[in-house]
Amino acid sequence: MTEKLVVAIDGPAGAGKSTISKKIANALKLEYIDTGAMYRALTLKVLEEGIDINDVDKILDILAKTSITFNDNHIYLDGVRVDKEIRENRINLHVSNIAKIKEVRREMVKIQRKLSHVSNVIMDGRDIGTVVLPNANFKFFITASVEERANRRYKELLSKGEKNVNYEQILKEIKERDRIDSTREFAPLKKAKDAYEIDTTNMTICEVVDKIINIIEGR
Ligand code: C5P
Repeated sequence: MTEKLVVAIDGPAGAGKSTISKKIANALKLEYIDTGAMYRALTLKVLEEGIDINDVDKILDILAKTSITFNDNHIYLDGVRVDKEIRENRINLHVSNIAKIKEVRREMVKIQRKLSHVSNVIMDGRDIGTVVLPNANFKFFITASVEERANRRYKELLSKGEKNVNYEQILKEIKERDRIDSTREFAPLKKAKDAYEIDTTNMTICEVVDKIINIIEGR
């Protein structure tokens, strides 16, 4: 492939976007950009600084003084690697409330577009095909039933050896994140008109990856 390749992957929480995107990135030699990780990193900083998550001015102030960068598929907050911390449950609980702030989104989108210029990329998130990279060569909207998504998260936490994992609680949290992400005023989660929709409820990761690669390679 000589032409620049830009792939946008969107979908709700727990649909498998990041696992799928990483595998496609590997197979097609693309740079993977996880935009959810960026909103998570800002949320981590807000919580660590003890800022009220409803205080938009303070959050914007913090954002202006914060560096969020990627290196070798790791995310760094002010130069410190935070891959693990941004996946903690306290982040899941607050990230959507921070991501719904218009000015936060404006800044994040600027950084995301810059990152997309660097090389062939696959970027995942909620508004990649609709807002961040509307001219992407390929757009995919990855979904699964909310019960299946909660079930995947539940199994993932158990496999990491986490104690006190409660399926009903995870289901409730995912539903709440879906609600905030898809009803927010700015760049809500929705399928781009020209995106391929893939319901992964009854598919394995491998099947989804193969399907996407086949579409990209025109098979
Ligand atoms: O993809 P992930 O679940 O890590 O994203 C965490 C949260 O970040 C989402 O629930 C959503 O609120 C926000 N997000 C967003 N726009 C993106 C990526 C993530 O609003 N492009």
